[in-house]
Amino acid sequence: MSVQDSLNALWEKYRLIQQEGLLLNIERGQPGDENFKLSSPLFTCVDETDVKTEEGFDIRNYPGGVKGILEMRRLAAEILDVKPEETIVGNNSSLKMLSEVLSFALLKGLNGSPAPWCKLDSPKLIVTVPGYDRHFTLASALGFKLLTVPMTGTGPDVELVARFAESDETVKGIILVPTYANPTGETISVEAAQRLVSLKALAKDFTIFADEAYVVHHLGDTIPERLNLLRASEKAGYPNRVYLFSSTSKITFAGAGLGFLASSLANIEYLAQLYSTQYICPNKVEQYRHAKFLKAYPGGIAGLMREHAKILKPKFDAALRVLERELAPAGLATWTRPLGGYFISLNTTKPVAKRVVELAKEAGVSVTPAGATFPFGEDPANSNIRIAPTRPPLAELEKAMEVLCLCIKLASAEWDAQQKA
Ligand code: PLP
Repeated sequence: MSVQDSLNALWEKYRLIQQEGLLLNIERGQPGDENFKLSSPLFTCVDETDVKTEEGFDIRNYPGGVKGILEMRRLAAEILDVKPEETIVGNNSSLKMLSEVLSFALLKGLNGSPAPWCKLDSPKLIVTVPGYDRHFTLASALGFKLLTVPMTGTGPDVELVARFAESDETVKGIILVPTYANPTGETISVEAAQRLVSLKALAKDFTIFADEAYVVHHLGDTIPERLNLLRASEKAGYPNRVYLFSSTSKITFAGAGLGFLASSLANIEYLAQLYSTQYICPNKVEQYRHAKFLKAYPGGIAGLMREHAKILKPKFDAALRVLERELAPAGLATWTRPLGGYFISLNTTKPVAKRVVELAKEAGVSVTPAGATFPFGEDPANSNIRIAPTRPPLAELEKAMEVLCLCIKLASAEWDAQQKA
């Protein structure tokens, strides 16, 4: 079949799909309703007869401090593999806590900083690509210049990170997702993590902002080997280098749970001082019921995450099956096969990502905008597409993936025809 004939055949298929009037969405990295149902006891697990924390604080009143209630700090510590006293449990968002720490760094400096970062002409942060769009928008909104390093399949290119950090004292840190990264799903290898925590940055207060949004979000029993960043940086002689962030957003309710962070004891004390100028205590009612619910769940947090995986794994499998069936034979794209997290990252072979997303939209399927995984929406190869298979029911997901694959075939055929013309 000529290039033009196959393009015509694909258009015909596409127009038939358009007539179906679909309204499908693989754009949002959100839990599905079945996932939310697992946490329904949160609505009822606390009542007026049960208002005292383990340490005797009344959850309805101010006292208790800014670090969060002990029972929830213990759970945050379990999730992040640190000690309870190395945590601060906040309110509903880890991204907010990351923004707070970055803002403190700019305005006051972090614990051990020679000066507030805003005193520099152009403080720089390293971000990974493809990566999480909200990291890019947050850091650039705060005035950081972004330096990008590619993901390699085993985490960020740490040699490039080292080159940046070891040659420029205005490079103040890196934001990365160590476990099951958004969108590539990869986990930083032990070797790469070791290199990262021990690099000899010119900035004395070079900081690793590790967003562990998916640290317990395994899809199966194969869990990649990981380095404990806090312990490793301590050993490497940089005890204050690492801040870990996470939340219950994809454990219980998204945006209606708890964000938390962990760092060295000295950093926690420093942050707690700053936090206590901003608020008297976090929402202890939310913390208390989360702690009660999570502790009572059969198997605890690991048990709950296994139930999530039972719902999510078939969705990832279905999405991967459609990709394999539709795209592998002609080699039109490559994609990740994550062991955990919330996303599949796909790269089209031809520079057609923008066109694919546009075609999908016109056929009733919303996909994350092409370029969103790069700062300022600019993917130099115009090839990366983030697929979020978690939210739609299975049948809708399969249909959406079929449409997406058809759009990749169509956009690739268009590209071929343009090259021939
Ligand atoms: N970090 C990453 C890597 C994410 O993918 C997300 C949500 O998609 C968040 C943070 C948001 O977390 P939170 O709801 O705790 O602010």
